[in-house]
Amino acid sequence: MKKIFLILAICFSIGANAQMTEPELIDLPIEADEELVKVSENTEELDETAMKYAATITAEDMKRHLTILASDEYGGRGTGEPGQQKAAEYITEFYQKWSLPTIGEGNGYYHPVPLIQQGWSDNVSIEVKKKKFNFMDDFYAFPRYTSDAHLKNEKIVFLGYGISDPFYDDYEGMKVEGKTLMVLSGEPVNKEGVFYVSKMDVPSEWSTNARKKTQEARNRGVNTLLVVVNDYKENAAYYENWIKGTSIKLQKDVKKRANNMNTIFISPQIANELLKKNNSTIEELEAKISETGKPLSFKVKNKATINIERYADLIEANNLLGFVEGTDLKEEVIVVTAHYDHIGIIGKDINNGADDNGSGTTTVLEMVEAMVQAKKDGHGPRRSILFMHVTAEEKGLLGSQYYTDNDPIFPLENTVACINTDMVGRKDDKHDDYNYLYVIGADKISTELHDINERMNRLYTKLDLDYTYNDDNDPNRFYYRSDHYNFAEKGIPSIFFFNGSHADYHKPTDTVEKINFDAMQTRGRLIFHTLWQLSNQDKRIEADKL
Ligand SMILES: [Zn+2]
Repeated sequence: MKKIFLILAICFSIGANAQMTEPELIDLPIEADEELVKVSENTEELDETAMKYAATITAEDMKRHLTILASDEYGGRGTGEPGQQKAAEYITEFYQKWSLPTIGEGNGYYHPVPLIQQGWSDNVSIEVKKKKFNFMDDFYAFPRYTSDAHLKNEKIVFLGYGISDPFYDDYEGMKVEGKTLMVLSGEPVNKEGVFYVSKMDVPSEWSTNARKKTQEARNRGVNTLLVVVNDYKENAAYYENWIKGTSIKLQKDVKKRANNMNTIFISPQIANELLKKNNSTIEELEAKISETGKPLSFKVKNKATINIERYADLIEANNLLGFVEGTDLKEEVIVVTAHYDHIGIIGKDINNGADDNGSGTTTVLEMVEAMVQAKKDGHGPRRSILFMHVTAEEKGLLGSQYYTDNDPIFPLENTVACINTDMVGRKDDKHDDYNYLYVIGADKISTELHDINERMNRLYTKLDLDYTYNDDNDPNRFYYRSDHYNFAEKGIPSIFFFNGSHADYHKPTDTVEKINFDAMQTRGRLIFHTLWQLSNQDKRIEADKL
C-alpha cells in the first residue's frame, strides 16, 4: 500500500475531493491597499481591528471542520496511513480556497518529511531438523539490536551460561569468534542456593543485567547468541510491545546497523530440539552444572537455519505549509504549529483524535481564515506567518524536528516565535469548567511572550491561564512533549496551549461529540490575539531568558 499511497498523495494534493464547503468570502477587493497595522505594545486598549478578525473564529466553523477531520473516514490520521493523507488534502484544499501561496519548493503546500517505517518482515523463523519455530511463539529479538541474518544449517556451540568471571568462566579455552552460541539465562547455583559466581546466596550481574552476556559475547566476536529463556511465555508477553509493531523514524536517523551480533531469545522447546541428538535437555544441563559447579560446553549436533529480517520502508508524510506574507517586517516570521496526525487505526479501533489534535488542527485553520481575511481587507500582518500543520508528532515530534533540524523553510534566526496548539477542545478533571487553558513554555525564553499572552487574555478572553505544567519539575514533562519543543530547543521563544489530559487521551473514545466548541472558540481567539500582537508590534520580542 505504501508505495501506491505515495504516488496517489502527490496527484491528489492538487484536486482533492474533500467535503469542503465554499468559504463565505466577504466581497472585498483582493489585496486592498496594505496599510500598516498599528498595535501598541503596552496599552490596555482594545484593538477593534484585531477583534473583528478574531470574531471570524467561530464554534460553528470549528465544529464543521472537526466533525470531518475526526470522522471515521479519516481513520485517526495515522502517519503513513491513508487517513492522514485525506486530512492533508482537506487542509491543503482549505489553504488553496483561501488563496495561500504555495511555498513548498515544487511540492505545493507540502513539506515532505522523509520517514522510514521499520518492522519485522515475514521471513523470520528458526528451523531445526525441518521443524519450524515461529517468531514470538518460540523466539524473539529486540528490533534495536538486530541486523538481518540468514544462517543456513548453522553449527551451534552450547556454552553453559555464557559467563566469564574469575570464579566461573564458560569462555575459558574456548574459540568462539564467528560462531553461534547457545547459552542458558541466569547463572549456576548449587542446591544450597549458593551462586558459584558470587559465592553467596545473591545472584550476580550475570543474572540481573540482561546485557552483560550479550556484551561479553559481542566483545569476543561471536556471530549469534541464542539465550534460552526459562519462563519463555511470560517474558515474551512482557516484552511484546518493545518487540512487535512498527517503528517510524526520520530517514536520517535510521542508521544501517553494522552487521553486528544478533541476540535471539529462544524457548526451551527450541533448545531441547537442538539438543535431541546430544541426548540431553536444558533441564539436565542445568542440573549437571548446578551439581558440579563446573562450566560445561560442547558442540550441538543438530544444526539450525535462522532467518532474521526487518523491512524498512520509506513512507512519505508531509508537513503542510500555510504561508501569509507580512508587509514591512516580512523577513521576520512567526510559526504557528499544530500536529494533524494522530495514532490512526490500531487493530479494529479507529482512534479519531478529536481533541488530540483535531482541535488544534481546526483552531489553526480558523486562524488562517481570520488572518487571510484581514490581509484581504488590507490589515495583513506586518511580520510573515507560517501556519504549519505538522505530521508525525505522535511518532516523536518528527515533523517539527525535521523542519527545525533539517529543512527550515525560513531561517531559524528570523523566526520570532512558535505558537503551538495541541488539545484545546476539552477539559481535564482538575478544572470544574472550561474557562481555563494551560500555558506552557511562554516565559522560558522570552519574558515578553508571556506578558503579551497575559495581556491579550486580560483584554479579550479572560480565561484562567494555568501555569501548573510550566513548572520545570513538572513530572508530566508536557513542555517536551509537543511540537513547540523543537523550536524552543533552538532558542526560539515558544508558547504551548493545552487543555490537559483526560480519560479519552489516545483512546478510540476521543471523539467529536465530547468537544466543547464554545471553549475552543474562546481559546482560539486568545491564541489569535497573541499571534496578532506578535506579528504587528514594532519591536520583535526578545529572547531575554537565553
Ligand atoms: Zn497531541
